[in-house]
Amino acid sequence: MKLLRINMTDGSVKEQSVPAEYQGLGGRALTSAIVAAEVPPTCAPLGPNNKLILAPGLLGGTSAACSGRLSAGGKSPLTGTIKESNAGGTAAQHLSRLEIAAIVVEGQPTNSALQVLHITSRGAELVPADKLKRKGNYKTVETLFAQHGQKCSIISIGQGGEMKLATATIAVTDPENRPTRHCGRGGLGAVMGSKGLKAVVIDAAGGKRPASADAQAFSAAAKTFAEELKKNAVTATTLPTYGTNALTNVINQAGALPTRNFTSGYFEGAEKISGETQRQTIIERDGLPRHACHPGCVIECSRIYNTKKKEYLTKGPEYETVWAHGADCGISSLDDIAQMDRLEDDIGVDTIEIGATLAVAMEAGVAKFGDGKAAIRMVKEIGRGTPLGRILGCGAEVTGKVFGVWRVPTVKGQSMPAYDPRAVQGMGVTYATSTMGADHTIGYSIAPNILKIGGDLDPLKTEGQVEASRNLQVATAMLDSAGLCLFVAFAVLDSPKAFGAIRDMLNARYGWKLSDDDVLAIGGKTLVKERAFNKAAGFGPADDRLPEFCYTEPLPPHNTVFKVTDQELDQLFKPLEEKYSS
Ligand code: SF4
Repeated sequence: MKLLRINMTDGSVKEQSVPAEYQGLGGRALTSAIVAAEVPPTCAPLGPNNKLILAPGLLGGTSAACSGRLSAGGKSPLTGTIKESNAGGTAAQHLSRLEIAAIVVEGQPTNSALQVLHITSRGAELVPADKLKRKGNYKTVETLFAQHGQKCSIISIGQGGEMKLATATIAVTDPENRPTRHCGRGGLGAVMGSKGLKAVVIDAAGGKRPASADAQAFSAAAKTFAEELKKNAVTATTLPTYGTNALTNVINQAGALPTRNFTSGYFEGAEKISGETQRQTIIERDGLPRHACHPGCVIECSRIYNTKKKEYLTKGPEYETVWAHGADCGISSLDDIAQMDRLEDDIGVDTIEIGATLAVAMEAGVAKFGDGKAAIRMVKEIGRGTPLGRILGCGAEVTGKVFGVWRVPTVKGQSMPAYDPRAVQGMGVTYATSTMGADHTIGYSIAPNILKIGGDLDPLKTEGQVEASRNLQVATAMLDSAGLCLFVAFAVLDSPKAFGAIRDMLNARYGWKLSDDDVLAIGGKTLVKERAFNKAAGFGPADDRLPEFCYTEPLPPHNTVFKVTDQELDQLFKPLEEKYSS
């Protein structure tokens, strides 16, 4: 396996064997290790000393189900912390087939020219791409597929990344060659834009599926893993039927669906935007109610959403997107939400952050809650780069400051997602202590609190929440490093056989002899490394807190506040730091 080092200062492209200190790492473990070792913690995220790392996971390119995640890492312009954000699509599998463990993009050009990195089995080169300036992701990939062939995969930025907006994403193309999968959180698209890199085109022709040290053992473990995913109720039935938006009704009924900028946990329009309504709409319009974001996914939670004229509009939209533009903005039109999802995928901005930002703007009176057309107009302003658009494109915290709103739902500068921490205390623990700013995917406490998977906690009580969040954060960092989709966690939390299959796949692929503890240590060590980076960047205990309103404004309908104490939050990482600090 090799690293590709792309120096955007002098335009050089160099191949390097994976250095000893990075061997045995993949996905998030690798991106975070490179950032921790090579990026000065106090550097400017959009300056020449930051780096952008793109890495498939340890199981990337293999036949393991749901193993096609691509991790993007760097210092975040949104949070100032270390950041890893991952997405599906076909790029990670293609990189693994070319034996590329990571692409490290470093330096910065002195002019505003754009480049495309073209990777084939014969090598890699930077090619000028000024003709793609200010093009959205859809036009960008259409142009590049026409030029390089439809069998490539493409990683790209839209106008958001070029404008270096703090919410900018990195798009990855799906099996239908659409830029629908996004490394969404933390503004890493702006880091890619700051390097002048518009896209990476990967042509894996001539590459091959990575060989395993023990091919027979690998295929037996991969078979067991897929079987476990097909047995679990969430991964076998709920997600394939309703997608992630199965959660709208569930979380609303739990009184935890943040509504109108986090002023209630119940949205009266939830049914209209629910997964059940979405499925029916998709079927009526000849869309796809079930879809895989990359080959080899056996869950297929993705969907294709068509317009009333039965023409393709966008993927999903996913639960978090539906919530952010729906309940949080008081909007109950699925079509308005889907239109914003399409616009934001094209511009390349984070749908969670932008939805939460629109809600903050609505609280300030920029538009009325519930006005879907006004929300669409605001999203279009982001794409055009108007003064208002640039403010919104920098996220909820900047927008709150500009418009004088104090109820800004952020931790370390990043918007809280679709679960109010006052009604699900465990999510508050994860939001507060995450190494990346508020993020549900870092430690999905909804599993034991609401879905009763991997434990049974009372969501309104504090007991057991810190320990559960810690364990979930460790397990998630391990899955992110293996390149596995987070949704496999439902089966892994429920069945020791599924966890054992991951251990066995890793051992068979690399000839390792990892125990269960060793597998979890991949996650634990990664978290400790990330936290050390953040400390060196200036973050301390006072940053591991929720916004003030979560402690002072009771949330209807439960009328509860966040009650986990500062002392409890400060204990979360102690056992991990004692165990894994080297
Ligand atoms: S479960 Fe959904 S997000 Fe995960 S790999 Fe499959 S389609 Fe992609």
